[in-house]
This record gives sequence, structure tokens and C-alpha cells, in this order.
Amino acid sequence: MLYPPRRILEDTNAPPKFGSPKDIANAIDELKSAFTGETGAQELVNTKVSTDPDDLHTHGFSENDHFPGMSPSVVIYPSTTEEVATIVRIATKYKVPITVYSGATSLEGHYRAHSTGGICVDMSTMDRIIAIHEEDSDLVCQPGARWMDINEILKEKGIPLFFPIDPAPGATIGGMLSTGCSGTNAVRYGTAKGEWFLNATVVLPSGEVIKTRRRSRKSSAGFDLTKLFIGAEGTLGIVTEVTIRLAPLLPTTVAVVQFPNVQKATEAVADVLNTGVGIQCVELVDDIFIDAINRYGMSARKYPVADSLFFKFQGPTPASLKETAKIVKAVAERHGGTGFQLARTKEDADALWADRKNAHYAGLAIMPGAKGWPTDVCVPVSKLPQLVYETKRDIAAAGLLSTIVGHVGDGNFHALILFKTDEERERTKALVSRMVKRAIALDGTCTGEHGVGIGKKEYLVEELGEGTVQLMKTIKKAIDPLGIFNPGKLYPDDSPSQGKPGEDH
Ligand SMILES: Cc1cc2nc3c(=O)[nH]c(=O)nc-3n(C[C@H](O)[C@H](O)[C@H](O)COP(=O)(O)OP(=O)(O)OC[C@H]3O[C@@H](n4cnc5c(N)ncnc54)[C@H](O)[C@@H]3O)c2cc1C
Repeated sequence: MLYPPRRILEDTNAPPKFGSPKDIANAIDELKSAFTGETGAQELVNTKVSTDPDDLHTHGFSENDHFPGMSPSVVIYPSTTEEVATIVRIATKYKVPITVYSGATSLEGHYRAHSTGGICVDMSTMDRIIAIHEEDSDLVCQPGARWMDINEILKEKGIPLFFPIDPAPGATIGGMLSTGCSGTNAVRYGTAKGEWFLNATVVLPSGEVIKTRRRSRKSSAGFDLTKLFIGAEGTLGIVTEVTIRLAPLLPTTVAVVQFPNVQKATEAVADVLNTGVGIQCVELVDDIFIDAINRYGMSARKYPVADSLFFKFQGPTPASLKETAKIVKAVAERHGGTGFQLARTKEDADALWADRKNAHYAGLAIMPGAKGWPTDVCVPVSKLPQLVYETKRDIAAAGLLSTIVGHVGDGNFHALILFKTDEERERTKALVSRMVKRAIALDGTCTGEHGVGIGKKEYLVEELGEGTVQLMKTIKKAIDPLGIFNPGKLYPDDSPSQGKPGEDH
């Protein structure tokens, strides 16, 4: 049951009150007995309900971000929607914070436990493909299924379809839906906020299970509740089953071309996209990234050190790919592009693309022992050169080192800023803040695809306005009146005293 609107409107900003340590202990006892079923078997407790310190640590820390770690009090590994509903009912009974963990590749402290600990629900073992409807180009799966595994299974079965949303290799469908992610394919296929998730089964904080809509390709039956959960970062419910749309798998190949600067490269992209040729991806990388790839990349290839574009072309036939390459080369050269290199074989194309996809790890290798602060912002495409130019100047002025990689066709760019000392970390934090404010001033966003988590929530009011953020909080309060679902993430804090990483709200 949801709650009456009058109450919701009265106290949208009231801080949630969580259960005491005793309540958490009681919740864990109740979870253990719920998961041993009638047998009381200890092995079921061990596999389903874990309080092993190493396990707790794994679920509360991340090498992918720089936020202080915080372990949950218990980790549960459910197998079914009903089991998830049981966990939620127990969490609600004892007012214990509940955080979902899946592929664990998110970058803004998304799944960090609350400062009181709480329940971590690990969905990575709910990873079954339930049905493949080749004739409808869709697939039903549990949320722990990884997008790369799904594509591999389709390939093994000889089904010429794939799921085109491509964040980190280990990301899962539930985590991807919940972060509103995208990736290099977004220029051709859009993002998780498009039509790729047809429906979702969700366990609400009340313990009620809903399905947002049926499997038909389109529906105008009311407003879009699937979208309510896309980008909700586990704050409104736990997604337990999803229907995803699939796209036809077409032949692709890869090319790389160098430019005198980012501005020229971006102008070339706008012209290339306007020709309408088959571009699946177009990625901007800066000279520092190219240097990193030359020194630390997986392939043996050495690239000229310059701001560059990586293209992935797509077309129904090899001849169409060649035609696309010819047109793109001509446009690139008109904008000062040089050294256009088209992959000669599939292996060559895979190696070229792997060099771009390994950006995160190559970037980290530039400064051994350093940590990386990954961040992304997004602006209208025409504003990207100004944003990149000013940010690169700012990075140099701050005395820091960072690679820059951009999904340039979408105006989305990423920096991986390296730091070693606490003082450098503080400089990095200030740099990220300036970068975000610069993007917002250019009519952009604090995050194009990584999501808000802990790291970006302080910018939401500036970007969206008080009224929009207040509406988000009203919806949150309506669905999760106790505020126990992933507290401390997504919603901006109400006062400066609240909202340190891992704290309430
Ligand atoms: C090397 C690297 C490259 C990356 N590249 C990209 C990129 O190109 N594009 C991009 O968008 N992102 C990228 N990311 C970020 C990351 O891959 C995405 O944010 C991804 O969508 C997270 O999915 P996950 O399964 O790992 O989710 P997790 O990290 O496990 O969780 C993310 C959030 O979703 C919630 N959640 C997870 N499952 C559920 C569920 N079933 N129900 C409700 N809530 C849930 C969690 O509580 C958490 O708040 C990259 C990360 C790395 C490390």
C-alpha cells in the first residue's frame, strides 16, 4: 500500500529514523530463519545470509571510486522475487536501511552501505535468462544478468540480435537500469532512458510486487512507470525481473583518425553525423590518453600522440562499411584530420576498439600507485569543445594529471583525474566541482551516464531547480516513507549537517 498524499506533502524533508543496533540484530536473526525455511539447514544460512567479515567488506568498499568505505551488517543472496519481498518486509519491520549490490561497477559510491550498516541485497546471483523471444526481438531476464553474458549467449545460440547498451563489462541489467547508464553505442542506440527496458518487476518498499507494464513493444496506457525506476539508483524499489529490447546484430568495423585539436575533431563529428552514414560509435580521446594507450594499452599498436577520434562503423554489408569509411575519411580531412586508419581484419578492429574500451585501466597506469577520480559531465554537442578546452586548462592549472575520453556524438565526456596524497585529493575534488558547474552553465548536466550516487547529489538543485528536486523527494517519500531504500544517495541533502557519505537521506 502507498501512503496518503497529505502526509507525504507535510514532511517530505523530515529525516528518516532508522532501527537501532538491536533492531539490526533482530532483523538478521529473522532473515536467517526465513532463509533456512522449514529445514533449518545451516548451509542455507551460509549461502543466502552472510555476516562473513570479508564478504561485508567486499560489499561496502570499491576500487572504482574514492568515497570512504562502509560495510553493511549483513549480505543476502536471494534467488527469487518472493525472497526479495521477504527481505524487504523484514527490513521495513525493523526500519533497517537496505542497499542493492549487483555488478558493483558504479562510480559514484552508489552501493555504499549506510553509516548504521544495514542490509545489502546482492542481486548478482539472480542472473538467469528467463525467455528469449527472437521473433519479437526481446528477452526476459533476472536483474543480475550481465549485458556482456547476454550478448555472448545470443551469439552462441546463433541468434543475430544483441543488447546495445554498453557500460562497464561487468555491469548487470538491474544496475544498468537503476543508473540510467549508456556507453559507446549511445550515439546510434540511445541510452537506458530510451526504450530498451520494456518492463520491470519491482519489489516496492511496502513489500508489494508490481510489474510496470506488459511486453508489447509500445504502450500508451498511462504514464511510464518503468522510467520511474530508470536512474532511481535503488532508492524506490528492487528490480527483480526485466524485459529488454534487442537490436539486429550488423557487421561493424573500426577506424581511428588524428586531429590538430578537440575543436576540429568535434566539428568533424557533427558533420559526419549529419551525413547519415552508419555510425555505431564515435569516441573522442585526448593526447594524454593516446600516450597512456601507447605505453600501457593491451595492443601492440602505437598511435600518433594527438587528440583523436575512434569510429565504429555499422552497415548491412562489407561494401556499405567501405562506403561509410570513404565518406568519413573525406569529412575528417576537411576538418584537418590526418592518418585515417581503417581496421583491415576483424581481429584488427577488435584490437583497436579494445584500446578505447580499456581507457579506465590505461589511464590509471599513467601514475603507478595513484588513485583515479572518474567523473562524467554532458553538454549540448556544440558546447563540447569549449568544455573540454577549459577543463584541460583547469587540470593543468591545478597541477593534476587526467585522461579525457568522450562519447563525443552525445556531448558526454569523462575525466579520470589522478591523485596520490590527501592534498591532491582535495584539489581533485575542487576541480571536479568546477567541471560540473562549467557543464551546467553550458546548459548541460552533472552526469551524462554514471549517475548521481553520493558524488553528484550536491549539484542537483543547481542543475534541475528546487521545484524539480522537491518533486523527486515527494515521489521518494510516497514510495519509501521510512527512507530505508539506499539512504544517502541521489537526493540532495536538506541541510549542511546531513549527507556525509554513508549518512541519512
Ligand atoms: C571501467 C568502467 C567503465 C565504465 N563505463 C561506463 C560507460 O561507458 N557508461 C556508463 O553509463 N557507465 C559506465 N561505467 C559505470 C557502470 O558500469 C554503470 O553505472 C553500470 O550501469 C552499473 O551497473 P552495475 O550492475 O555494476 O550496478 P551496481 O554498481 O551494482 O549498482 C548501481 C546502482 O544500482 C542499484 N541497483 C543495482 N541493481 C539493482 C536492482 N536490481 N534493483 C534496484 N537497484 C539496483 C544499486 O543499489 C546502485 O545504487 C563504467 C564503470 C567502470 C568501472
